[in-house]
Amino acid sequence: MYVSVVLFTADLRLHDHPPLRAALDRARDVVPLFVRDRGVADAGFAVPNRLAFLADCLRDLDAGLRERGGRLVVRSGDVVAEVCRVAAEAGADEVHLAADVSAYAQARERRLRRALAAEGRRLHVHDTVTDAVAPGAVTPAASDHFAVFTPYFRRWSAQGLRGVRAAPRAVRVPEGIVSEGLPSGSAPPGVSPGLAAGGETEGRKRLTAWLRTGVAAYADRHDDLAADATSRLSPHLHFGTLSPVELVQRARRSGGPGAEAFVRQLAWREFHRQVLAARPAAADADYRTRHDRWRSQETAREDIEAWREGRTGYPVVDAAMRQLRHEGWMHNRGRLLTASFLAKTLYVDWRVGARHFLELLVDGDVANNQLNWQWVAGTGTDTRPHRVLNPVTQGRRYDPDGVYVRRWVPELRGIEGRAVHEPWRLPGPERAAAHGYPEPIVALADGLARFRHARGRD
Ligand code: FAD
Repeated sequence: MYVSVVLFTADLRLHDHPPLRAALDRARDVVPLFVRDRGVADAGFAVPNRLAFLADCLRDLDAGLRERGGRLVVRSGDVVAEVCRVAAEAGADEVHLAADVSAYAQARERRLRRALAAEGRRLHVHDTVTDAVAPGAVTPAASDHFAVFTPYFRRWSAQGLRGVRAAPRAVRVPEGIVSEGLPSGSAPPGVSPGLAAGGETEGRKRLTAWLRTGVAAYADRHDDLAADATSRLSPHLHFGTLSPVELVQRARRSGGPGAEAFVRQLAWREFHRQVLAARPAAADADYRTRHDRWRSQETAREDIEAWREGRTGYPVVDAAMRQLRHEGWMHNRGRLLTASFLAKTLYVDWRVGARHFLELLVDGDVANNQLNWQWVAGTGTDTRPHRVLNPVTQGRRYDPDGVYVRRWVPELRGIEGRAVHEPWRLPGPERAAAHGYPEPIVALADGLARFRHARGRD
């Protein structure tokens, strides 16, 4: 009798899941396994918002497996030790796993392969589970990865995609494999009050609704902060409750400029992932050093605190930082301008900001977070590394009526229209309406001069 273990990691779904499909094609019995990996917790990645979303994903995955006659086996500990233990208990011949890009995921794969081989078992690693186009599948002539998006996107777009696999009809799990209990439905302490629900069922619903009613206007509205007109599928891509291959194909089928612009953003995700796959150290080290000598965290302590709490005195920055705390998610335009404000206007090390984002973001992702931070800080792949976003101009352009700011900064609700972006310019009585809202912590001109000087561009 042939038995396989399928280790679920960032691919918590049943639809379009090549490792599960391959295991079911070859084995009579399959153990769908999730390990609460001690290594992930030790690295500081197990934060309340992602744990709460993960709990939804695991319950939904288990429910989907039970509908098909199976169940999810959950264990805790060192992922390699637990996989080996379960494989031994089940008498499994092989283990199936989705490829992933971080240094941690790459090391996990190497360790697993060695440990399983020592026990006479095989590891099968499947690509195009967490990416539509596998990292490294397209490369420029003289490098192992693309450092510029546009040529990458051209090659990525021309790449044929594999067919989407149906969800299995039946899954047979061997008797006697013990599982820990699934996480409960109650939110752990510290969860953002406006956190989205997780799970494949929820992700598929959201995707269908998005393709039906949202994507057509994406090209025109994706940068409009108040409209909230992006897909909000990022946590589902992070946890793999949706398949990137399926997403790209369904979006392409829906057609039109909105779908095209949306697919382009999906390619940005894979662009960063192929950079990280080739340069895993870029999670912490500058991808391209600009020889920055960032302000020390001691000197900048009050500025960093004001930024984290959303009281910098720049309304659109504060609105976005408060959205992050409340929802565990932030609009992409907000991420760009808050990151630019920290790394450039305040000249604080991008790693400080990236860490704060990872503490709160439900889609917090090593590849997309760290490399987007580097992109904004000018130490990454941006071809204009010294540009600085002006939060007042950004606010006026992407929140022209101030609706987004008033939604998240209640102190400013008494100020009408776009004047809300510069409360310090208002005459006395109107300014009094902004009661309790702080003065700007830095003059933009001073921040710009400090940054230019630091980069040797004054
Ligand atoms: P949509 O606009 O609907 O886009 C669809 C999908 O495309 C997204 O879900 C995402 O997977 C991908 N995508 C869109 N924009 C980008 C981008 N600039 N880079 C990479 N992928 C993109 N995204 C994360 O998934 N995790 C992160 O931790 C993360 N951190 C970021 C940090 C900073 C400083 C910046 C500037 C961006 C970050 N992003 C991150 C990228 C982007 O902001 C989010 O993916 C997006 O806002 C998610 O919302 P959405 O699903 O509605 O996006």
